[in-house]
Amino acid sequence: MAEVGIRGVRKTYAGGFEAIKGIDCAVGDGEFLVMLGPSGCGKSTLLRMVAGLETISAGEVSIGGRVVNDLEPKDRDIAMVFQNYALYPHMTVYDNMAYGLKIRGMSKSEIEERVHKAADILELRPFLGRRPRQLSGGQRQRVAMGRAIVREPKVFLFDEPLSNLDAKLRTQMRVEINRLQDRLGITSLYVTHDQVEAMTLADRMMVMNGGVAEQIGTPMEVYHRPASTFVAGFIGSPAMNFLPARLTAAGVELNGGHAVPLPGETGMSGAAGREVTLGIRPEHLTLESGRGIGDIAVRVELVEALGADTVVHARLTSSGDPLLARLPGSARVATGDTLHFAITPGEVHLFDRQGGRRL
Ligand code: ATP
Repeated sequence: MAEVGIRGVRKTYAGGFEAIKGIDCAVGDGEFLVMLGPSGCGKSTLLRMVAGLETISAGEVSIGGRVVNDLEPKDRDIAMVFQNYALYPHMTVYDNMAYGLKIRGMSKSEIEERVHKAADILELRPFLGRRPRQLSGGQRQRVAMGRAIVREPKVFLFDEPLSNLDAKLRTQMRVEINRLQDRLGITSLYVTHDQVEAMTLADRMMVMNGGVAEQIGTPMEVYHRPASTFVAGFIGSPAMNFLPARLTAAGVELNGGHAVPLPGETGMSGAAGREVTLGIRPEHLTLESGRGIGDIAVRVELVEALGADTVVHARLTSSGDPLLARLPGSARVATGDTLHFAITPGEVHLFDRQGGRRL
């Protein structure tokens, strides 16, 4: 069993900067956890603490039930894949994959068995005799993964492994990592700032901001029930609309006095008058008023026809607040039109105006 326990973990760098401000997360055996967040939020720092490449200022990291705070990286039974694959240029693919096993003193026959098994999984057999410079970027990345697989570690740690690849290759490698995970089922922690990668690879994702975990949940939980305006705005493209509003007995009132009834959407009755932020994803606005909640009148400022979708930039007629909608490509909309949007039931998000937590 190889659960990873992160308990009350903090990191203060020399100089006093607190990069991780107390994070708790239990990663299950075989689970794929993606750490996601903007630049500087502390994702690499947290991963490097699990790897043993950074000291832990407070709290505990455990792997397979054993506290590893004081163990060297080589004794933690982990394998790491970085964005710069760090292959040895003068060695063949075979030797690059075998190297870590050789220095551990493994027998030649066992090394050969493990390297060939990994090469089969990653379809690297034809390249075992080549050197890294004779490979494409994607093949090199596969060798880097092969080097991690042959170790048969308890835990894989990935630090933005695809960020040096072009868009097409990234997509291919993403699918390969997904397949690999299905096949090997090894507990994995994966750092990225790419939300598509996070959504497609993660069993659960940790959305980080300023050294804290704003939310830990499945991709669907994070998308459908974001814990804060930060998470709501970070996940989803185009980003969620945020409208200033005030709670009323029947729903909310937007700027300019426009009322949006929220039947059964929230348990907020009794808190009338409270200042809130109404969150609506662009894809949850519809022109079919019978199918949705409310009637939000807007004036269209710009239409972007993307083929499959049409993105409409508009402003509320009552307040002038901006609103973005993603409609089907078949929608007939033009600049200057007045439209009436309704919100998809179950997709209304309310946040506290102060602090931005979900209500
Ligand atoms: P990115 O996506 O840009 O790689 P990240 O989320 O991985 O960002 P980290 O590299 O973990 O961020 O850094 C978190 C914070 O800690 C940043 O503000 C960074 O400047 C700071 N930091 C990182 N390493 C050190 C260090 N050795 N000394 C002091 N501060 C550091």
